[in-house]
Parts: sequence; structure tokens; C-alpha cells
Amino acid sequence: MEDRKNGSPEEPLILISNDDGIDSEGIAALAGAMGDFGEVYIVAPMDEQSAVGHAITVRDPVRARAWDFTEEAGVAAAWAVSGTPADCVKLAVNQLLPRRPRLVVSGINRGPNTAVNVIYSGTVSAATEASILGIDAAAFSLCEWDGGHYATAARVARRVARRILKKGLPEGVLLNVNVPSRPLDRLAGTRVTRQARARWEESFTARTDPFDEPYYWMAGEFVDLDEGEGTDLGAVEEGYVSVTPLQHDLTAYDHLAGVREWTWEE
Ligand code: MN
Repeated sequence: MEDRKNGSPEEPLILISNDDGIDSEGIAALAGAMGDFGEVYIVAPMDEQSAVGHAITVRDPVRARAWDFTEEAGVAAAWAVSGTPADCVKLAVNQLLPRRPRLVVSGINRGPNTAVNVIYSGTVSAATEASILGIDAAAFSLCEWDGGHYATAARVARRVARRILKKGLPEGVLLNVNVPSRPLDRLAGTRVTRQARARWEESFTARTDPFDEPYYWMAGEFVDLDEGEGTDLGAVEEGYVSVTPLQHDLTAYDHLAGVREWTWEE
């Protein structure tokens, strides 16, 4: 690792992306945390892409602009991309990077990505895209919207990345990590969790624009419907780092047999 500035081909390449945009506080914190593990590249959206989920850009060109991240120690190169987080990972792996990443880390997101928010999250989708491409990946989110302890989440990211680089992840599995916003020594520990059952109950405000056309503005309230044990929401509420293994294969395997018993031909 000593000669990492030379970027030897044997050195692990770490790709960093996010959904909050390339100039967000969280991505700089994550870049700072990854420097010891290999050659760090950043490919992230130009503008905030929170809640775009796994969207990809197919009807428009995607542009990548070299981004000056030299102040951040250990970053070999960075690009700001006009597309989504999933676009960033695809473009990075296929075009921008000098070789295939050993690890893709996404975040550190501003705000939690627990429960059903995993589905809406661009942060998680960057990691998911890497997993689809067969690359080990993890998403990191800080459970705080304003300010918050990014240094804590960065330390957690280092630990998680070290484990992944040492052990590797099973094929098709990525890690979704949520970190309570508090000083490192105030974390209660780490729990391996499942996604809590929850949903947003939306409320729309209907208005009329200056051209007499109606428009709608979505807001919502997050409702936790899960009273069971072992959830991501429960862990972070109790001050634990939550680590949830995710898979992009969405097949409900427990229900394959039952649905096969339905009659499909009439
Ligand atoms: Mn975000």
C-alpha cells in the first residue's frame, strides 16, 4: 500500500459514488476514509439525485466532467456525471476507470436509508449496480439531515470496507449500512439487521400554476409498521450501527411454490 500514489495495477481500485452530488460533505468524508485501502476514484452525480432509486439514463447523453478533488488526500481522479447514481457506476466501470474496481462504496448519505427507503435510495442503488456488475459493494448513510457526525460514519465505513476486502461478499449480496449520528465512542455497537416494514403515507397539495394548469406537490409521513425484532430502524434508534445484507434478486423465494399452484391457463 505504501506506493499507492503510483497506482500499480495490482493495487485495489476503490470507486466511490453517492446520490447527494459530488460536492456533498458525505462523499468527501468517505473518500478520506478509503485512502489506505487502495487507489480511490470518485464518479458521482453533478447534482443531487436523492430518491431517484435505480433509474438509468437511456434517452439522453450522459456527460462526465473531470472534477478537481485534489485537496482530498488519496483521490486519484474524480468525475462529475450528469446522470443518476446507477449511471455513475455503469459509466465508471465501462469507460472512466483504468481497471475494474475491487470495491464500490456509496455515500455517506445525508439521512438514513432504512426500511422501504432502500427502494427509493439512489445511494443504495449505486451499490446495487456494482453488485449487479459482480463487484463487492456497500452503501453508507448517516441518520441525520443537518450537520451530523460524518467522521463517525467515515470510521464505520473504514471498518466495513476492511472486512469486505478481507472476506469478500457472497455473489449478488451488498451491504446497506446506517450509522447513528453521534461521536464514535457513543455508538452502542453493530447489529446485523433486516429491513423494517414501513411505508410513507403520502399527502399531496394540489395547486394551480400561472397558466391555470393543476400541479401537485408530494409530502408524506413515514410510518413504522414493524413491531418485530432485529430491524434496521430498531438498531439505529438504539444507537447501533445497522448492517443489512441486501440482494438485487427480488424473487420472493418463499412464495414460489404457492404461486406455482395457482391456475394460469384459464
Ligand atoms: Mn441522498
